[in-house]
Order: sequence, then structure tokens, then C-alpha cells
Amino acid sequence: MDGKTHLVAGVLAGIGIVALENKLGIGNNLDKVLLVAGCGLGSLLPDADHPEAPAGRILPLWIFFKHRTYTHSLFFMLLVGLLGLIFHINIWLTAGLVLGIFTHLLLDCTTPMGIRWFYPFI
Ligand SMILES: [Zn+2]
Repeated sequence: MDGKTHLVAGVLAGIGIVALENKLGIGNNLDKVLLVAGCGLGSLLPDADHPEAPAGRILPLWIFFKHRTYTHSLFFMLLVGLLGLIFHINIWLTAGLVLGIFTHLLLDCTTPMGIRWFYPFI
């Protein structure tokens, strides 16, 4: 699946969450922008394990990991969330990153190659 598809799905998920937040009346406008931006970034992040993907050119994790292994697992999603909390990254940006990664995993699991959600364990 290409980066544009992942980006659109991630941003749409973020907008959906913002729409829900608007009904609940939580968060300010900056938080909402950070959430959507985080979703967009997070939706591209797992493909940093591929040298030709946009994220792979900026953050070359493909040097260390094979494609669709560690960065395409729930482990990676949780790791990004934990790092965001540990380093006190804005909670809305962190939540957006996690949600964006989740949308990426959801889309990639529908492809013939699929993903291993619990890599390296299962
Ligand atoms: Zn992918």
C-alpha cells in the first residue's frame, strides 16, 4: 500500500476523532491540530523500514529492520506511545502518532502480504 493511501487514512482517522471531541467538548484547537498531524505522521512511520517510502528516506529504520517486521507490529505502536509519554511529548501528538500507526497496520493487514501484529512473537 502506498504512502498517500496511508496518509489519507491516518488524517481521516484524526479528523474523525476531532469530530468526536467536538461533540464531547474536550481539547483546544492546537490539541486538535496536533492530533491530526500526529495521525498523518504516524500513518507513514511504520514504512520507515522501507528505503523507498517517504518515512524510510527521512528515518532510515530499514538499515536495522526488515520490511513489515518490527515497525509493523503492535509492539512498535506501543513503543511509540511509551516513548511519547516518557519524553513528555504532547499527549495529543502522541495519541495521534499511535492512532496513525494503527491505521497503517489496519490497511497493511488487508494486503496479500499482510502483517504480523505480534511480531516477533507470533
Ligand atoms: Zn506498511
